[in-house]
Amino acid sequence: MLNDIAYVLLSAQEIEKRVSEIAAQINSDYSGKEPIIVSVLRGSFIFMADLVRKLDLKCTVDFMYVSSYENRSVTTGAVKIVKDLDIDLEGKDVIIVEDILDSGLTLHYLKELLMTRRPASIRTCSLLDKPARRKAQVTADYVGFEVPDAFVVGYGLDYAQKYRNLPFIGVLKSDIYENE
Ligand code: 5GP
Repeated sequence: MLNDIAYVLLSAQEIEKRVSEIAAQINSDYSGKEPIIVSVLRGSFIFMADLVRKLDLKCTVDFMYVSSYENRSVTTGAVKIVKDLDIDLEGKDVIIVEDILDSGLTLHYLKELLMTRRPASIRTCSLLDKPARRKAQVTADYVGFEVPDAFVVGYGLDYAQKYRNLPFIGVLKSDIYENE
């Protein structure tokens, strides 16, 4: 698996430090509140798990399974809700947790969708931000790292459902997806 990685972009230590900083910011912003933390599966599952363990808040977690990539490294723009939330959001403070903001279409779509459920507030948190490829007018309220326009894997992010278990974030060798 490691042979497929061109280089490490963010080490496990760098990620851990930044996740702690984001959690500290959320702890301060939501002090005394009980937000619902919505993980957008599958890519955010590791980030989510690390983030919520650093939150000193009586938060609730829920999961939404969204699919857009279908084993390819280019976005189609289509967002399919494979699994919706179980929790009612009305009157609640919601934080959407994403792995990466690329075209922005997914987060834009999800934010609009969840707004219709009348939460008290919605903020968004994305571990990575790839602004070079943005199509939708969307920014995340909490961002871990800005990344260059390269296809990254690890720490939850996949290529064809693989590499999610890498503890760091790396750039995949281009021949892995060019030889499809
Ligand atoms: P967007 O809708 O912002 O274009 O894309 C959001 C989703 O596309 C992310 O949640 C992620 O699953 C996938 N994605 C975008 N860029 C990358 C990337 O560089 N690596 C991986 N593994 N997935 C990506």
